[in-house]
Amino acid sequence: MPKRILITGGAGFLGSHLCDRMIAEGNEVICLDNYFTGRRTNVSHLLDNPNFELLRHDIIDPIKLEVDQIYNLACPASPIHYQYNAIKTMKTSVMGAINMLGLARRTGARILQASTSEVYGDPLIHPQKEEYWGHVNPIGIRSCYDEGKRCAETLFMDYHRQNDVDIRIMRIFNTYGPRMNAEVGRVVSNFVVQALKGEDITIYGDGSQTRSFCYCDDLITGMIQLMNGEHMGPINIGNPNEFTMLELANEVIDLTKSTSKISYLPLPSDDPKQRQPDISLAKELLDWEPKVQLRDGLQPTIDYFKKELNI
Ligand code: NAD
Ligand code: UDP
Repeated sequence: MPKRILITGGAGFLGSHLCDRMIAEGNEVICLDNYFTGRRTNVSHLLDNPNFELLRHDIIDPIKLEVDQIYNLACPASPIHYQYNAIKTMKTSVMGAINMLGLARRTGARILQASTSEVYGDPLIHPQKEEYWGHVNPIGIRSCYDEGKRCAETLFMDYHRQNDVDIRIMRIFNTYGPRMNAEVGRVVSNFVVQALKGEDITIYGDGSQTRSFCYCDDLITGMIQLMNGEHMGPINIGNPNEFTMLELANEVIDLTKSTSKISYLPLPSDDPKQRQPDISLAKELLDWEPKVQLRDGLQPTIDYFKKELNI
């Protein structure tokens, strides 16, 4: 049965892929965005679709809409952007969550929060399970994002306990793919763009820190399964295959056949040394696991950036 679905942050990287999937499944989509990091071009191919509506709005302000489901993705996700205006980032996470939860309460809509592996901070437990409470600096430069997302999780749980709001909490681990914003400074887009332009690949620190990269299609499948399943979470969704940043750089150089060299820059403060999701809960409760391997996901990402950069 088609639903009317609100996707906040819908013009962003993940939001736009979710809009595509929701429209393809025959739903009505309201895509809400303030275009801080998102772009109309990410959804311009949907503008003529009668089931698609694009709204310029900031979720720190309340809004009244009639919807069946809400995916709350609005929030800058890259360190460069969320640190650009840290107070606004915190407002987006906290006031945005309150406004969207209020909307869910009024309409009876189910609401999913795009939370993050950052709630685990610089983890002392490896890999990270949902029951781990994290190791987070409350006063550092990443705190506006980490603590904002942690507070949003608290609000989701409290609206559920106190007001019976139907919630889902998804902890997203590093995700990449076409439509990542080249300006956001995330590692995959930086390395791919640098390799395509023949510029130095910038590794922060010695490149031994690890991340586990999930391809966007896998992530969106997990998100939709969580929203439409029985379990409210929090549930980790990510790819458990772990790589050092040096391994990633070499993989990108290999796939792009680039002449780029590697240059080493200082490691930003509070940069987590390792991150890998334990996805046993997602496997057991959602029957979900990622299918796309890093090399297979890097190729369409490289093709996307080639087109974007006219290379
Ligand atoms: P993105 O920056 O491409 O998308 C975020 C979108 O939210 C953008 O379109 C932006 O313009 C919009 N936005 C920001 N503040 C807003 C506000 N106040 N009101 C309305 N819209 C606003 O990032 P993404 O990678 O697509 O991330 C989507 C969500 O997933 C975010 O909540 C992010 O924290 C979460 N997440 C992403 C990753 C990842 O690796 N991509 C990892 C963990 C969590
Ligand atoms: N990183 C890097 N070079 C870059 C951008 C990022 O070495 O040009 C490193 C960064 O320091 C971090 C990892 O890559 O250790 C992942 O960074 P990203 O910003 O993508 O995500 P996050 O730190 O939020 O996981």
